[in-house]
Amino acid sequence: RLAGWQRDLRAEFPIIAANPGLAYLDSAATAQKPAAVLDAVSAFLTSGNANVGRGSYPWATAATARVESARERVKAALGDVGDDSSVEFVSGASHGLRMVAEDWLADQLADGDEIIVPFGDHKANLLSWLDVRDALARRGTRVEVVAMPVDPASGDYDHRALPSLVTERTRFVAATHVHHVFGADMNVHRLREAVGPHVPICLDAAQSVGHRPVSVAELDVDFVVFSGHKALALPGVGAVWARNRRGPRLAPRGWAGTPNTAGVVSLVAALDWLDRAGLERIREWTTALCVRLSDGLSALRGVRVLGCQDSLAAGSTVQRREGIVTFRHEHVRSDDLGFVLADEGIMVRADSHCQAGRGADDRAVRASVHVYNTPEEVDRLLAVVARCEGMAS
Ligand code: PMP
Repeated sequence: RLAGWQRDLRAEFPIIAANPGLAYLDSAATAQKPAAVLDAVSAFLTSGNANVGRGSYPWATAATARVESARERVKAALGDVGDDSSVEFVSGASHGLRMVAEDWLADQLADGDEIIVPFGDHKANLLSWLDVRDALARRGTRVEVVAMPVDPASGDYDHRALPSLVTERTRFVAATHVHHVFGADMNVHRLREAVGPHVPICLDAAQSVGHRPVSVAELDVDFVVFSGHKALALPGVGAVWARNRRGPRLAPRGWAGTPNTAGVVSLVAALDWLDRAGLERIREWTTALCVRLSDGLSALRGVRVLGCQDSLAAGSTVQRREGIVTFRHEHVRSDDLGFVLADEGIMVRADSHCQAGRGADDRAVRASVHVYNTPEEVDRLLAVVARCEGMAS
């Protein structure tokens, strides 16, 4: 049903159109850009490039207005329906999480306070908070870091165990919307009920914004952080959305410098393009590709898909993979598998996956998709992995 729609959209990605022999299955690392995004950047740089907030000439005032209106565009993309909120542009999710940590959280914490953060998610969503704890400790303020509980069967947060970890000293909770290795929806809409009405929640939405609809109204979180480059925009731009209801405003320090205006232009163009394409349909397409991928891999001898296979068996609420499938081969090292796939023109992420708190071995192969990917590309990957069994024995 979606095939014709998808074919038209795929044709809008110049890098995909120019490389028909290659299969790009690494969009969780960074996504490709539609022509509309490249054209918007080119138009800005060739017809109105200027710094913001500096000049009174038309290019400068127009550039300033674009960045200001881009904040409203980001709010709309996040389903913000008129909250007292703000948007800061950053270089990406890692930078955004650091900004929340250093320019907001550090000022909120007193001796004996507690924060709950994920230890099995992307390291950017752990190290930022641990560094705040360590910086405060050097000044004699002790903050306790509590690990967000995880249900071992599903890989989802353990929403039932969470309330017992929330105390009157809990000041902050950090979570991830979609897991960057397992592709699991972490059911963050359940967090608010678990942590109560007053504790600010920060959401790492690096793998969800630009891939599916995201609504801060539904999720009832206080910060949303994401990277533009994973949402079809340029690298070097991202955003921090902050709701000002549960505490003082995010007060970014030292941001008198020149922003990435071309990046902001690309982000607006990407959000517009995604809206036109339809995020619900994109999600439908990418989750269907992931079902094909994980079913196909699970049927292969010696291959184990990480995360959701177990979770579905356990009757978990994690019902689908959001654009990401990660797997291991019993007999073939993940980096070798990455090379074999690369030889066949199939691009995936192999080896380790930036999971700071999960112990030593997070080596695996991650295949991830966006709207431009096709069932044929998935099948090509499956055929190569199937051949690896022969290679191993
Ligand atoms: N969080 C998650 C869930 C991610 O997948 C990533 C990127 N791999 C990041 C944070 C960091 O994003 P960036 O590298 O764009 O700063």
